[in-house]
Amino acid sequence: MSEEERLAEVTAVLGDLVALPSVNPEGSGQSGPSYGESRIASYLERLFASVPGCSVERQPVREGGRDNVIVRAGGTTRGAAPLLLEAHLDTVDVQGMERPFVPRLEAGWLHGRGSCDTKASLAAMAVALRRALAAGPLPRPVWLLGAVDEEYQQTGIARFAEDAPAIAGAVVGEPTRLEVIAAHKGQLYQRLEVRGLAAHTSVPERGENALYLAADLVRCLRDRAAAELPARAHPLCGPPLLTISMIRGGTSEHIVPDHCELAFDRRTVPGESAASVRAELERWLAEGLGPEAAARVTLHAPHHEAPPVETPVGHPLVTHLLRALADETGLARAASGVSYNTDAGRLAERGIPVVVFGPGDIAFAHTTHERVELAEVGRAAGVLERLLRDGLPEL
Ligand SMILES: [Zn+2]
Repeated sequence: MSEEERLAEVTAVLGDLVALPSVNPEGSGQSGPSYGESRIASYLERLFASVPGCSVERQPVREGGRDNVIVRAGGTTRGAAPLLLEAHLDTVDVQGMERPFVPRLEAGWLHGRGSCDTKASLAAMAVALRRALAAGPLPRPVWLLGAVDEEYQQTGIARFAEDAPAIAGAVVGEPTRLEVIAAHKGQLYQRLEVRGLAAHTSVPERGENALYLAADLVRCLRDRAAAELPARAHPLCGPPLLTISMIRGGTSEHIVPDHCELAFDRRTVPGESAASVRAELERWLAEGLGPEAAARVTLHAPHHEAPPVETPVGHPLVTHLLRALADETGLARAASGVSYNTDAGRLAERGIPVVVFGPGDIAFAHTTHERVELAEVGRAAGVLERLLRDGLPEL
């Protein structure tokens, strides 16, 4: 009975959320009625406005009404720090989709942009909180945070983490197929510049070809990464990765190029940082290129950085969520890890214990055939409802 009610409730809420466009306007550089997260923030405000014991607040993050929304529900344990449920409000863009904001139900699956990434998690969290509150007072305060801008720069969660008070633990919603993710990789985007010396191509010996240096540099980084990174694989989320992904240089066929620029994506594992990655790259350049060539290479500071996550698998947040999962669904699982990164990194960076958990399959995220199985969204809501009522007394 209550399981069916819950499924009906998540179906209704998720349908509403998909019907409200919240495409991240950045990255694509687009603007228009489908862009921005404010409709979802207003929806959450309305959803919790009449729920007793709740307050709702907006936290401005970016221009154009792009605010985080924070729902706060009190708890009965004096002085207990809140448990945070977080899901991002934005989606990626909709190119190639026919009717991205018309939620379509088909054989138990809901189709539409954001259905899986990550409005399913947001719906499960909202329904879990409403139902847990309806069942009686919560032992521990619970905050539900809808954050803007996960799909571009994660400025929403960064703004929240900036001056968040003590948080006992956090569940970040992403499509994990109900896996409890205790560790994930981080990510750095970084640029390298190679300086040569220009000369006419009839007398190339007077110049220093920046592209030849860049070729040596690419080989050096590729070989070193292949030799050293696999050995440092993290037990849950695999090895660190380095991918050189952009290269640009030269001005004309008849000029020895004096400049070349490269960019790479470096996936970090827990324990690595921007500083440790830089130290490693400097060592590789010095050893692999020699001091003279290495001196021609400038390694810029990262222009994008998402921290990795590692919560001990024995942490009560992990064990209680696994138990709630087992009790609700019969799934006896162990904590696992993933290779992608999420908003959770910004919380982990602040020392907040965090797990990533939610309905849906990441394989459908960012695709034109995005969808989620509604029964799984209902189960996720059931698991989270148990967690909120349990209240994690050891934290
Ligand atoms: Zn997502």
